Amino acid sequence: MIDLDKNRFDAALIPGTRSALASAVGLLRQAEKETFAALLDSAGDFLPGLTYQRDCPQCGALHQNAGLVMTAHGMHLLACGGCGFIYSCEVITPEQERLRYENSSSAQCHLLQKQTDTYAFLEREKARYVAGRMHQLIGQGKGLEIGSSNGVLLEAAQELGWQMMGVEINADAVALSQTKGFTVIQGEYPEALPADEMPFDAIVVLDVLEHIADPLPFLSIVSSQLADPGYLIVQVPNFNSLLLRIEGAKNSNVCHGHWSYFTPDTLSALLLKAGFEVCFLETYITELDRIQTYPEDTVAAVYQQLSGKPLQGLQALNTDMLHDDYLGYKLFGIFRKIKK
Ligand SMILES: [Zn+2]
Repeated sequence: MIDLDKNRFDAALIPGTRSALASAVGLLRQAEKETFAALLDSAGDFLPGLTYQRDCPQCGALHQNAGLVMTAHGMHLLACGGCGFIYSCEVITPEQERLRYENSSSAQCHLLQKQTDTYAFLEREKARYVAGRMHQLIGQGKGLEIGSSNGVLLEAAQELGWQMMGVEINADAVALSQTKGFTVIQGEYPEALPADEMPFDAIVVLDVLEHIADPLPFLSIVSSQLADPGYLIVQVPNFNSLLLRIEGAKNSNVCHGHWSYFTPDTLSALLLKAGFEVCFLETYITELDRIQTYPEDTVAAVYQQLSGKPLQGLQALNTDMLHDDYLGYKLFGIFRKIKK
């Protein structure tokens, strides 16, 4: 029996979860703050030489013709005047990005957080859900996860009959996955992947697309490695999530390293341009408890703006309302490669 209840991994709905995660999350946020600050001058702009400016990564329209959505940690988030894609005009250069990962304490804190029992529980339940959707909508087959981390999705998908492999940069994560018996190649995608492993029936990218400065060439490579039919399984932070829109630049998903900011529409449009059609698209994880710590008029105003509906009090807000209007914290989708 496959459990497709997404509330099972929603921290806001599980009593005790927040307090169990509080100290790890606190350390992570503090470390992130320090990591951001190290790259900025006293006016809050990037120090010279760390970043380059770019035009719309989807349609190429000039950044001078885009609308400013918000500024955050030295980044100008823009909505493209041509296609509506939301992106950071500034991107950290690849060399600086590598240094940032090697030296940053936030990467260490993130690993620490993953090791807490509570986090591991939520992660495992989410992996089971994602694998359950793959089983329901695709069936079984050969799959690749790009950025397979500690192998939690490989495990869940294999339990449902998928033949999985992973590519992962982090050596500790690779070692951990290999001791569990999974096939994981250490290195960068696509260079590290042996050619004789292709094609795949499904390629999984969870929290990957937002990090890629030039997503269309990346998606073109992914598409070329898929069988026919072939599927792409995607999770990205939702820029239209109610919590993110309430918090704006203070929200932890607005950060260096997140260079694209997806809504349900812009994610679908980018993937269509890359040759994929939507099979399934939803939001999961509500952050309902965090939303309810904000003043009612603030929440109501943002809710109205995003959903077009009035809010009858903070307590009226519930899980279904958020997900029905795609206001959850993460966007999750399964996309099918369009036949040429
Ligand atoms: Zn554009």
